[in-house]
Amino acid sequence: MKTNKILYRDAMNYSNIDAIKGIDLLTKEIVMGDDLAPVGYKIKPKCKFCNKFLPDSKNGSLGICKASKNDFMAYPDMIAVTCKDYEGTNI
Ligand code: SF4
Repeated sequence: MKTNKILYRDAMNYSNIDAIKGIDLLTKEIVMGDDLAPVGYKIKPKCKFCNKFLPDSKNGSLGICKASKNDFMAYPDMIAVTCKDYEGTNI
Protein backbone atom coordinates (compact mmCIF):
# COMPACT_ATOMS: atom_id res chain seq x y z
CA MET A 1 0.00 0.00 0.00
CA LYS A 2 1.35 3.41 -0.97
CA THR A 3 1.41 6.06 1.74
CA ASN A 4 2.13 9.74 1.62
CA LYS A 5 4.17 11.37 4.35
CA ILE A 6 3.61 14.93 3.21
CA LEU A 7 1.46 17.11 5.41
CA TYR A 8 -0.91 19.45 3.66
CA ARG A 9 1.08 22.41 4.94
CA ASP A 10 4.13 21.04 3.11
CA ALA A 11 2.31 20.24 -0.14
CA MET A 12 2.33 22.33 -3.31
CA ASN A 13 -1.43 22.11 -3.72
CA TYR A 14 -2.25 23.71 -0.39
CA SER A 15 -2.87 27.35 0.44
CA ASN A 16 -3.20 28.30 4.08
CA ILE A 17 -6.13 30.34 5.42
CA ASP A 18 -4.64 30.63 8.92
CA ALA A 19 -2.16 28.74 11.09
CA ILE A 20 -4.43 25.70 11.38
CA LYS A 21 -6.33 25.23 8.16
CA GLY A 22 -6.17 25.91 4.45
CA ILE A 23 -7.56 24.96 1.06
CA ASP A 24 -6.69 21.91 -0.97
CA LEU A 25 -6.22 23.65 -4.32
CA LEU A 26 -7.19 20.53 -6.28
CA THR A 27 -10.38 19.53 -4.44
CA LYS A 28 -11.23 23.08 -3.22
CA GLU A 29 -12.02 21.63 0.23
CA ILE A 30 -11.03 23.17 3.55
CA VAL A 31 -8.42 20.89 5.15
CA MET A 32 -6.23 20.88 8.25
CA GLY A 33 -2.60 21.81 7.65
CA ASP A 34 -1.37 18.98 9.89
CA ASP A 35 -3.36 16.26 8.08
CA LEU A 36 -1.60 14.04 5.57
CA ALA A 37 -2.00 15.16 1.97
CA PRO A 38 -3.30 12.56 -0.51
CA VAL A 39 -0.83 10.23 -2.16
CA GLY A 40 0.82 11.84 -5.15
CA TYR A 41 0.79 15.41 -3.87
CA LYS A 42 4.16 17.03 -4.45
CA ILE A 43 6.28 18.56 -1.75
CA LYS A 44 6.53 22.34 -1.48
CA PRO A 45 10.20 23.38 -1.51
CA LYS A 46 11.07 24.73 1.94
CA CYS A 47 14.38 25.25 3.68
CA LYS A 48 13.72 22.29 6.00
CA PHE A 49 13.70 19.97 2.96
CA CYS A 50 16.94 21.37 1.55
CA ASN A 51 20.23 19.52 1.96
CA LYS A 52 21.91 22.86 2.68
CA PHE A 53 19.75 23.55 5.73
CA LEU A 54 21.17 22.83 9.16
CA PRO A 55 18.49 22.80 11.89
CA ASP A 56 19.23 24.54 15.18
CA SER A 57 19.55 21.82 17.83
CA LYS A 58 18.15 24.08 20.56
CA ASN A 59 15.40 25.93 18.70
CA GLY A 60 13.29 23.96 16.25
CA SER A 61 12.01 27.08 14.52
CA LEU A 62 15.49 28.23 13.45
CA GLY A 63 18.36 26.93 11.39
CA ILE A 64 21.34 27.87 9.25
CA CYS A 65 21.63 27.96 5.48
CA LYS A 66 25.00 26.55 4.42
CA ALA A 67 24.66 27.55 0.76
CA SER A 68 27.00 30.53 0.84
CA LYS A 69 30.44 31.31 2.27
CA ASN A 70 28.80 33.24 5.06
CA ASP A 71 26.22 31.06 6.75
CA PHE A 72 23.00 32.87 7.46
CA MET A 73 19.93 32.24 9.58
CA ALA A 74 17.06 30.50 7.86
CA TYR A 75 13.66 29.30 8.97
CA PRO A 76 12.61 25.68 8.43
CA ASP A 77 9.26 26.64 6.92
CA MET A 78 10.65 29.37 4.68
CA ILE A 79 9.30 28.69 1.19
CA ALA A 80 12.16 28.08 -1.22
CA VAL A 81 10.37 28.03 -4.58
CA THR A 82 12.57 30.88 -5.85
CA CYS A 83 15.83 29.86 -4.15
CA LYS A 84 18.42 29.10 -6.82
CA ASP A 85 20.45 27.04 -4.32
CA TYR A 86 17.61 24.80 -3.17
CA GLU A 87 18.72 21.19 -3.11
CA GLY A 88 15.66 19.23 -2.20
CA THR A 89 15.47 15.98 -0.33
CA ASN A 90 13.13 13.17 -1.20
CA ILE A 91 10.64 12.23 1.48
S1 SF4 B 1 19.85 27.01 -0.12
FE1 SF4 B 1 17.89 28.11 -0.22
S2 SF4 B 1 16.37 26.54 0.27
FE2 SF4 B 1 18.36 25.74 0.93
S3 SF4 B 1 18.52 26.30 3.09
FE3 SF4 B 1 19.50 27.93 1.91
S4 SF4 B 1 17.88 29.48 1.58
FE4 SF4 B 1 16.90 27.55 2.20
